[in-house]
Amino acid sequence: MSAESSYNILITVKGVVQGVGFRPFVYREALAYSINGFVINTPDGVVIEAHGENTDLFVHAIKTDLPPRARIDSITVEPCEDAEYEGFEIRESTLGGASAAIPLDSALCPACEAEMDDPSNRRYRYPFINCTDCGPRYTIIQTPPYDRVRTSMKHFTMCPACEAEYTDPASRRYHAEPISCPDCGPQLHFCDNSGNAMTGDPVDLALSLLKEGKIIALKGLGGYHLMCDATSDSAVETLRLRKHRKAKPLAVMFRTLEQLERYAQISEEEKKHIVGSIKPIVIVRARKDTDLSSLIAPSIDRIGVFLPYTPLHRRLFERIDFPLVATSANISDEPILIRRSEIINRLGRVVDGILDHDRTIINALDDAVIQLAYGKVVMLRMGRGFAPHTLAHTVSLPKEILALGAHQKSTIALGVKENMVLSGHIGDLGSVEADGYFERTIQTFKRFYESVPEYWVHDLHPAYYSTRYAVETKKEHYGVQHHYAHILACMAEYGLHEKVLGFAFDGTGYGDDGNLWGGEIMIADTHGYTRIGCLKPFALLGGDKAIKEPRRIALSLLFERYPLEEVLSLNSPVIDAFLPHEIRTLHHMWSKKINAPLSSSMGRLFDGVASLGGFVQTLDYEGQGGMMMESFVDESLSEPFSFDVCEGVIDLSKMVGEIVELTTLPDPKGVIANRFIATVMAMMEHFSILHPQLPLAVGGGVFQNRTLMERLYRRFGEKRFYAQQQTPINDGSIALGQLYYAVHNLPSPEDTGGFTNG
Ligand SMILES: [Zn+2]
Ligand SMILES: [Zn+2]
Repeated sequence: MSAESSYNILITVKGVVQGVGFRPFVYREALAYSINGFVINTPDGVVIEAHGENTDLFVHAIKTDLPPRARIDSITVEPCEDAEYEGFEIRESTLGGASAAIPLDSALCPACEAEMDDPSNRRYRYPFINCTDCGPRYTIIQTPPYDRVRTSMKHFTMCPACEAEYTDPASRRYHAEPISCPDCGPQLHFCDNSGNAMTGDPVDLALSLLKEGKIIALKGLGGYHLMCDATSDSAVETLRLRKHRKAKPLAVMFRTLEQLERYAQISEEEKKHIVGSIKPIVIVRARKDTDLSSLIAPSIDRIGVFLPYTPLHRRLFERIDFPLVATSANISDEPILIRRSEIINRLGRVVDGILDHDRTIINALDDAVIQLAYGKVVMLRMGRGFAPHTLAHTVSLPKEILALGAHQKSTIALGVKENMVLSGHIGDLGSVEADGYFERTIQTFKRFYESVPEYWVHDLHPAYYSTRYAVETKKEHYGVQHHYAHILACMAEYGLHEKVLGFAFDGTGYGDDGNLWGGEIMIADTHGYTRIGCLKPFALLGGDKAIKEPRRIALSLLFERYPLEEVLSLNSPVIDAFLPHEIRTLHHMWSKKINAPLSSSMGRLFDGVASLGGFVQTLDYEGQGGMMMESFVDESLSEPFSFDVCEGVIDLSKMVGEIVELTTLPDPKGVIANRFIATVMAMMEHFSILHPQLPLAVGGGVFQNRTLMERLYRRFGEKRFYAQQQTPINDGSIALGQLYYAVHNLPSPEDTGGFTNG
């Protein structure tokens, strides 16, 4: 029925509608439109009973004027009985645990910023100010439903002034669960790197260290940050040395947007995300010739930037005018640390002091990292403000399913009722810390959703910790191929079921045939896939060593193309990177297939080309080769290199020869980078022409390459082209893809067999 003419209606809203100020918003709109009735959180979503002349305007307002962090997935309006209500009220929740999306952490909102700056406000300069539009959520929740008693704020008793705001439906802080003030809230502390409390104003103590070029740890929303002066080479170098982080770029926090724009060139789209309600790290183009330390992001032209998103970060910038490095407090790719004792024990030698407070972080969460290509979000790391991410599914699942993801950029995903929930970034598995965090995240999800998963899905790689974990549960479990899972993740985000032409380009994953895949073209739907193409496999000389040393991949590509003696006499940066006897030894390994596993990985091909083109010969971090090549890409016209496709197998040996010839010319890097991206586009074009009726779906870490993504959006448009925006395009989505497979392939309840071990 249509709501337009109805006086009495019942509205049911599903989506992200808890802990985001949705009910007070409904209350205010009800007052504005003279609606009587009530709003209540229920296990089926937010239910609103509305009576009055203006119900149509009221419904329209609910749909269009949502609070910044709310998201409506579905809204139904039906007629209801007439009833007498005096005014409009917010009723107590009847909310069960497994019902709705978990509320997400938000960056400090403009209204709270203004109060923080107002000397007459009782929260003037208060480092824990928040309201229903902003502040911590997921990171402080022990169990849902989201009420103060089930958060780490339960230890702080509200003062009468805070309580009055908390219980006033007209207040911006009505049911703002972390509400507090200087009289009743958490307290700041400063201690040295052994945990000894220091006397004095904690923020002043932190500032004086930062001004001296020292490193501090600061307790943020989902963990500690390590911070230092981003304009000081010696501070940044010390941080890199102490943290054992050689060249991987560091994120930089700026005082204001104006300051940020002096250091980075940003588009309007990028600006929206930088100043928005989440304030993730956004990878943008760095300006040249600033006073930023060149050690922040060596040899690349991009930089990860963000603005202060907690009131405490904002306090730091009150009295310094230089940008600050703000990187997750951890050791290399381990999980972010959330306890002071961990900082002291594990990073005591890294930091010179700790700016701390007594509001406990319950759920660790890194900052999210995004990038924009053609105005679209490319999610690089699922984190604060985005995770856990809930996708609605059309049918209610008969069983609960847990998907354990891959190994690097680990995340997990839970299928419960009609929701699919993807966790935040856990890290690279394989260390005690990361594996522990992985297990804690599983426990958190089970607790949050009162879930006892009966089906477990995992990668095919037998050595992954996540695979072994699934097998050891002794529950029914199933392995989903890694690259198929990439395509499924893309399909899951867009709710696709029909056949797609999938391009899964990434590092390396375990193939159905036991080989290392990574440049795969497949026709896939929710029930299976056919691999219709791949890169011609090449040898990774020395196995894992080739991942750190692209020159080994380049050499293997040269061996495919030329006889050994010719390789030795080539004028190429690859040959210059070895001694002649090393080349002979590696050739022996290559020809005898000793420690030279074959791979069809596109990510490794990027590395190999980065070496052939003389961009880089050994890597300090994953993806470095592609990023260094990208900094040479310009908008000049570029012809693809030559390649052959035989029965779906892409043979690039002609390309290798063409690159070798180019490297003998002066300044060939721009041309090589442009033409290589054009070559990847041409490969995709080749297969899309063969299957013109199929939509394209892409997934895998290679699509983190911004140039490639921009050209793909431009070439294939939005109509036939699907790339993830809300979920990570890299291995951070493997769990989601695995889950999407299981959701569509569970045995029916009466079926006793069917879903078995893969
Ligand atoms: Zn606020
Ligand atoms: Zn108070």
